[in-house]
Amino acid sequence: MSCDFCRQGRYNLCPDVHFTGAPPYNGMFCDFLVHDPRFVYRIPDRVSFTQAALAEPLSVAHNAIGKARLVPGETALILGAGPIGFSCIEMARVAGAAKVISSEPLAFRRAVALKVGADQAVDPSSGQLPQIVREITDGRMCECVFEASGAESAIADAIHCVRPGGRVVYIGMGKAVVGVPHAELLKREATISGIYRYVNDFGPVIGLLGAGKLDAEAWVSHRFELDRIREAMALANDPSKNKLKVMVTT
Ligand SMILES: [Zn+2]
Repeated sequence: MSCDFCRQGRYNLCPDVHFTGAPPYNGMFCDFLVHDPRFVYRIPDRVSFTQAALAEPLSVAHNAIGKARLVPGETALILGAGPIGFSCIEMARVAGAAKVISSEPLAFRRAVALKVGADQAVDPSSGQLPQIVREITDGRMCECVFEASGAESAIADAIHCVRPGGRVVYIGMGKAVVGVPHAELLKREATISGIYRYVNDFGPVIGLLGAGKLDAEAWVSHRFELDRIREAMALANDPSKNKLKVMVTT
């Protein structure tokens, strides 16, 4: 607790953060782990170990929804249907979004987006996403846009799809430098936020899981025992394979 960020409770911005699983710090692929009790939470009885593990990506979404200040009744667009995109879809629902639109080029991921709560799942690969969103929203566009892919085209689409005065939250990390439609951003007076991981979000997320407000199990596509972790990693890293979240269990 020696830096300003930690003292202010924004420990995700700490320049000396120790993040389990981010080199040089070891991860949790082991049977037992000793951890600082200040960062440990008790899992409610009704929450499965799978759901508890997914409190991590769900916390990213919880942070993003907070940054967007999503108000009940608004329309949310989520670009990218991977674990973070699914987390954002579920969290936007919980936060009271009246309409949740998922944009994702892969059909099998769009199907899961619908299953976890998106009202519509559309394919952006035609390059016409802003027009598609305009039709779906009767020209209103989206008060909140969450970019969870890191793809340069989606980073630009996020600005084209936000309603004037709306909020765009960038979550996905792709190329270090990307082009954005600057004039469109200015004309919309959109608010842009970036988020980095999460901060003080695990507690609320575990509370939501305990209350049965989030599913999370639907986007686990594969499970491996710990002794087959090499297979799990190979699958997770193989872009030719259809997979969502690959879970390693003990
Ligand atoms: Zn610090």
